[in-house]
Amino acid sequence: MTETLLLTTLVLAIAAWASWYVIVAVRTHRRLAGVRVVICPETGKDAAVRLDWVDAAMATAADDKPDLRLADCSRWATRGRCDEPCVPQAAAQSTRVTSIVDRWEARSHCALCGKPVTDAPFIGHHAGLLSPDGRTTEWTDVAAENLPKALDTRRAICWNCHVAETFRREHPELVTDR
Ligand SMILES: [Zn+2]
Repeated sequence: MTETLLLTTLVLAIAAWASWYVIVAVRTHRRLAGVRVVICPETGKDAAVRLDWVDAAMATAADDKPDLRLADCSRWATRGRCDEPCVPQAAAQSTRVTSIVDRWEARSHCALCGKPVTDAPFIGHHAGLLSPDGRTTEWTDVAAENLPKALDTRRAICWNCHVAETFRREHPELVTDR
């Protein structure tokens, strides 16, 4: 009887401990995961970074104050690792790529049909950008570090117009303008 009680207590304790780690991991992932675009304090140019959310989650779960650091930066490949002075910027929700795109979509209308520009990521439909040469691309095809400039300098286009323009470009023989 005592053994059963001990075993039950142990199982409950392990389950509680595991649940705590899962809760912290989910919360930390929601807060810190995802690509962010910061202005690199060393170069003054846009850089795409990822925070090390796994390390932060482990520290939080162990009741340590997490020492936020980067997991990756688009500039490291050419400049090597740095002292990560951009971490406070990267921690701000406003630097998330999804936040940047949300703000852009909220102020944009399609340059071709005038409709609001929105994403339907669950079915793989993303808003597009119109280049000066008439080519269109979905915003997800632009490297994150180039995205803020692309959103500022190119015209927005809705997904339907992006598909129509791509078809028109790739199959001009099949298109009849009315
Ligand atoms: Zn359109």
